[in-house]
Amino acid sequence: MKRLLITLIAATALAGCLATPEPTATPIPTWTPLPTFTPTAIPTPMTAPSPTATSTAPPTPTPRPLDSKLLELLSGFSVPIKGARLPTSDGVLPNAPRPYRYGLHEGIDFFSGDSGVPVVMGTEVVAAKDGTVIRADMDYQEPTKAQMDQYLAIAREKGFTPPDILDKLRGRQVWIRHEKDVVTRYVHLSGIASGITVGVAVKKGQLIAYVGNSGTPEAAEGTSDGPHLHFEIRIGDTYAGQGLTMLETRRLYEKIFANER
Ligand SMILES: [Zn+2]
Repeated sequence: MKRLLITLIAATALAGCLATPEPTATPIPTWTPLPTFTPTAIPTPMTAPSPTATSTAPPTPTPRPLDSKLLELLSGFSVPIKGARLPTSDGVLPNAPRPYRYGLHEGIDFFSGDSGVPVVMGTEVVAAKDGTVIRADMDYQEPTKAQMDQYLAIAREKGFTPPDILDKLRGRQVWIRHEKDVVTRYVHLSGIASGITVGVAVKKGQLIAYVGNSGTPEAAEGTSDGPHLHFEIRIGDTYAGQGLTMLETRRLYEKIFANER
């Protein structure tokens, strides 16, 4: 038995030895193209793009100094809700993206929970500075759900929010003109204070309106969800902070409200 086993092992070993030389001969030509891949695989220039990448990175976080003339123009404004502060979330500041209407935010949203004071339906809104009322939507009509869908469909189709649609999405509004073509807008209101009509002079801190959700998809759905004050500071055709980075925008509004609350 043992002898038979040994011969069997020896036979298979020999067969194995005989079999090996053949395959070793064939793989060689198939592997020869490999060296041609190695030069392309050595991505030594990869080290070159990385310094350029690091050199382009710093400019973004470094905020440019704020224009002193702009700061002078925007001095003396207070927040439009007594006791409120600039929200901490960048998503409610000017220049924040608004994908639902394919545009950028142009004002500040004061919501409960991120404004330092409660902001609910009916919270009092005050004038941010002395001025004259140039718009007060007394006969405001809330859009229906179908109209709201249509407004948003137009924005989607165009890839941006046309000005007339944007105006409807702001809901019930009060606008106040201050000196040098600076206008403040108080938006999504639920009501306007008595005596506030076009042409009336108002004082800083004076009650002008009440917080609501008009012009929002929530209001079009017939709910009172999401009440907040959207507040804009406009300079001619632009909004304060237009064209700035988010960090610069925050710095600008921090400066505007630095001494005024
Ligand atoms: Zn807003």
